[in-house]
Amino acid sequence: MDWILHNDEFIREEELNISKEDRGYQFGDGIYEVIRVYEGNLFTAEEHIDRFYESAEKIKVIIPYTKDVFHKLMYDLVEMNEIENGQVYVQLTRGAYTRQHQFPSDTAPVLIAYPKKLERPLELMETGVHAKFIEDIRWLRCDIKSLNLLGNILAKQEAYEAGCFEAILHRGEVVTEGSSSNMYGLKNGVLYTHPASNLILNGITRRVILNLCADLGIEVQELAFTKTQALEMDEFFMSSTTTEVMPIVQIDGQQIGEGVPGELTRKLQEAFEANLKLTVKS
Ligand SMILES: *Cc1c(COP(=O)(O)O)cnc(C)c1O
Repeated sequence: MDWILHNDEFIREEELNISKEDRGYQFGDGIYEVIRVYEGNLFTAEEHIDRFYESAEKIKVIIPYTKDVFHKLMYDLVEMNEIENGQVYVQLTRGAYTRQHQFPSDTAPVLIAYPKKLERPLELMETGVHAKFIEDIRWLRCDIKSLNLLGNILAKQEAYEAGCFEAILHRGEVVTEGSSSNMYGLKNGVLYTHPASNLILNGITRRVILNLCADLGIEVQELAFTKTQALEMDEFFMSSTTTEVMPIVQIDGQQIGEGVPGELTRKLQEAFEANLKLTVKS
């Protein structure tokens, strides 16, 4: 039986009591993070915690713990549940109050976190995956890791129904990101990805990858590219906390490059893994 974190208390699932008027439930009025656990260690935990606090600030919710206390709570959660390889899902809502759109003046935010065992998707990382272009119909604050995910899940479902692993979202001709991942194309040795603006969620994995590019001497252009340009890339991949560097070998049924994971994508996968081992050991 797993331990769940509820505010600053560790409880059993059957003890969890969430109000029918929790604003996360009624409005999606909250934020979340997914943090990867490799060999019992939280990977890039500080970066995720920083982003969690930034998202909270953007929606004007105050997290009632210091980052250090929060980090310790996440760490204890992983340890108490004996998670070796997995993830922690953590969400914070504005709290519960009689339903009204404006912020209640006196409600306490509600924090929930729980872990899950999860292996690395090594097979898919070898073969690569297929993706589908889908119009990005989301709002204009995609930089917030918000609980409002209808635009994301509708896109993912459409991709899934077409036999694809991920949706490649685009606003008009411009590719933004995935439904829960960031997107990259490589052309003539240069890596292109949408700049970290209000139109995408700046992934922690994205930041790791851009640092790895610097180490490997791969030129990076944080520039938006079009759907047409995407199809003409030599290599294409996506990234997220759970999918790492995931090659995309087909978009809308069209083969990208040779139709297999590209050479630089491979290099980035190797560098990511080496970085992960270093981080886990330290
Ligand atoms: C979480 C998320 C990502 C990936 O971020 P990571 O920190 O790398 O997991 C990308 N796009 C969206 C829309 C997301 O929600």
